[in-house]
Parts: sequence; C-alpha cells; structure tokens
Amino acid sequence: MILQAATVTIQDFGADNAVSDHLWMHFTRHASQDTSTAAVMVRGDGPYIYDAAGRRYLDGLSGLFVVQVGHGRQELAQAAAKQASELAYFPIWSYAHQPAIELAERLADLTPGDLNRIFFTTGGSEAVETAWKLARAYFRRTGRPLKHKAISRSMSYHGTSMGALSITGMPTVRNDFEPLVPTVVRVPNTNYYRRADRAADPFVFGQWAADQIAEAIEQEGPDTVAAVFIEPIQNAGGCIPPPPGYLRRVREICDHYDVLLVSDEVICGFGRLGSYFGAQRYDFQPDIITCAKGLTSGYAQLGAMIAHERLAEPFRAERDWFAHGITYGGHPVAAAVALANLDIIEGEQLNNYVRTNTNVFRSYLERLYDLPLVGDIRGDGYFFGIELVKDKATRETFSTEEKEALLRGYVSKALFEAGLYCRADDRGDPIIQLAPPLICGETHFAEMESILRTVLSEAWKRL
Ligand code: PLP
Repeated sequence: MILQAATVTIQDFGADNAVSDHLWMHFTRHASQDTSTAAVMVRGDGPYIYDAAGRRYLDGLSGLFVVQVGHGRQELAQAAAKQASELAYFPIWSYAHQPAIELAERLADLTPGDLNRIFFTTGGSEAVETAWKLARAYFRRTGRPLKHKAISRSMSYHGTSMGALSITGMPTVRNDFEPLVPTVVRVPNTNYYRRADRAADPFVFGQWAADQIAEAIEQEGPDTVAAVFIEPIQNAGGCIPPPPGYLRRVREICDHYDVLLVSDEVICGFGRLGSYFGAQRYDFQPDIITCAKGLTSGYAQLGAMIAHERLAEPFRAERDWFAHGITYGGHPVAAAVALANLDIIEGEQLNNYVRTNTNVFRSYLERLYDLPLVGDIRGDGYFFGIELVKDKATRETFSTEEKEALLRGYVSKALFEAGLYCRADDRGDPIIQLAPPLICGETHFAEMESILRTVLSEAWKRL
C-alpha cells in the first residue's frame, strides 16, 4: 500500500511490503494502515522514485513540495557527510557555527527588502509558530501589548503545532484539538473559480478579498491584531493563486493598521514559483517570511523565520532577548546542505528554468480541459492544481461520498499504479496537485499529462 499525502490513500501492493506495526504514519487513516501494506520507497534518482519492488514513479509532488533539485544529488549527500564529520552538532544558543552564519548571510541577500534577520527552525510549523511569537513580543516591546491576534485565510494550512494549527484554517485537522489558541480570525481565501459570482473581473474580486482583511481588523479592533498570515499561492483548499493586485492591497491594509504581513513560503519558496520567494514573484513586500521544505530540498530538515531588521531591533536592548529557541534549529548539517542546495539552484539557474518552462507545463495540463471531469487548472511556476467537477457548466462539485469514491476509491490509486506519485486532495473541493522537482522538463510534463488523461477518463466512466 502507499500512503499518498493528503488523501493518504493506502494501496495494496503485496504482503512483501507490510508496514511495521510500530511506524505511526502521519495524516494516515489508521484502519487501512493496520490492515494493508504500503509502498515502501527505497531510492530516488532525478525526478523519479523507486519502491522496494523496483517500480518507478514520476515524483509529481517533489515528495511533499520539498525536493526542488531532484533525488539522488550526490553534492547534497556529500555536503551533509562533510559537515557531520567536521562538526555534527552544536546549538546556536549563545554560540554559533559557520554553516548557520553563512546560510543566514546568504538568505539575507536573497530575500526582498530588509528581511535580514534569520531565525532557524527545523521545519515549517516552527517557523510559523516563531513568526507569531515574534509579532506578539515585538508589539509588547514597542508599546502596543494588546496587538496579539492573527488573521489567516479559510482552508489554509500553516502547520500542526498548537500555535501554527491555530492559524491553520482547515476544520478537519483542527477539530480534534480544540480549544486552540483562541485569537485567530479567518477571512476568505481567493478561490476565484468558486467565488467568481462576486465579480466578473479578477482584480475587483482580489480587492474585495483583501478588503475582508481590513474588515476583520476593524471588527477585532486594530489595537489587538498583530499579524496576517498568507501564502503567495495557497496550497490547501486547492492551489489558489492571488488575483492581480490582491497582495499589494493586503500590504496597504497591513500598513494602514500597523499589522505585520507574514508571507508563509514553506511551499512557495526556493524556486517553486520561479523565484527565491513568492513575494518577489508577485512583487509585494512582507515583514516576515516563513520557509522550510525547498530550503534544503529535503536532504536535511531545516526551516527559517526571516524578519525585517526593525522587528529584531527592540530585542537588542541591554539584557533583553527573544525568549525562544529549538535544539536542532539551524543544525550544522542541515545548514551545510542548504548552502549546497542554494549552490545548485543558482548554478543550474533553476529559477530561470522554472520561469521559462511554466507555460509549457501549464499548456500540457490545459490539454486535459477536453475531459468532462476537469473544471479548472490553476497555479504558477511548478505548482498547479486541477479541480475536478461533476458538471463543467455549472461547476457543481462532488458530495463527500462521491469524493471518497472518486479520489480515495479510484484516482489516487490508479495514478500511482500508472507511475505518477502526486496528491489527490479531498480536504476541500477535489483537486489533483502537481509540484514536480524543478529539474523536470517537457518529457516529464508529457508523462504526467498522459497518465492523468488515462486515469481521469476512466474515472469519468466509473462515475
Ligand atoms: N506552512 C505551509 C504553507 C505549509 O505548506 C506547511 C507544510 O506543508 C507548513 C507551514 C508546516 O510545515 P512542516 O510540516 O514542515 O511543519
């Protein structure tokens, strides 16, 4: 069986691949895990992964939006080995080490504007958690201690630790853990396909959506709101790009109310949209960037909260500090891997490559519009979603039972069996998500289109 992220579909590929009774797989339906077997991955090479039975799959999701430079990169393995043999571990609590210093300097050069202070974490949830803590502590130090609330968008995913989960806007991952941190307000996302009734013009729709943030700030009281968390392209809820003008308007609103704008780039950073950061792709200036995943292409675990200079300033007062830290934050091996990963992104000009190829990728996916099941194809860079609908003309979507039968019952498994690992996401409207390694080219786009065509055509017949 395979655990396919998000739908987390368990597929049976034979008893020889039995999942251990002890491995607690993440976001997995445990009944199916206990009674089935999972595809066990053993090797990766470029954009392909191989299971224990030797079957090859095109990695249409870069693992989990992570493996930007592809699998099996010896440069990254060697960077990790070299650093581990020199200095495997030391904290960055009061002391420092060279890989973290160098990486912080390099990131400060790559970020837009004066986002120059890098707080390392081990992943995305911790980066989001850190951003919210910084926002609260910053406003306390600057005479506005009531500014503590966060605003995020409906169906957004910002992580699973209690603070980050509170910002996450997906009921299905929150419900078991309520009450969460009670000071997060949700606003609509920018799914134009689903909200096109609001305005015929995407720009007008974007202004409306941004103004919902202003309204939420007004309702909560501007003196109580600390930060707005937004992904440049929202992943959960269906790969939702920003309408033109939206992010700039959000920036204006944040300036007006003195609220920090956090660009959560855990997915959108490091080339996914053809630039180091999505903020550059969409030309807006955040106060904080959170990132992880593609920072190391997954060869080691690392995240970062990158703050504007002025947000770090108040903590420099005599005897003051930002009372926050993580044992493995900025781990030397992970930092060395990140530096080597950035060397590859730069040396192979992957940002440029993605920008050049995004329309080719899009055009292959758009060929699927001739299928009755394909309602909308949206995204940017190497990050696209295909929304499946029951009725193209009316945009009618599927019931919960239909989604279960369609995605978990057939599409996920069939795509995987046909050699394409990607995500069939049923957490909102049904979406197939594609985010392949940034080294993919036309032959891989053609391979994806061909497998999707076969499987989605068959799915329609089965409906
Ligand atoms: N923020 C965003 C936008 C994400 O997509 C994710 C994970 O997918 C996170 C935060 C949480 O990151 P992690 O799983 O590394 O904690």
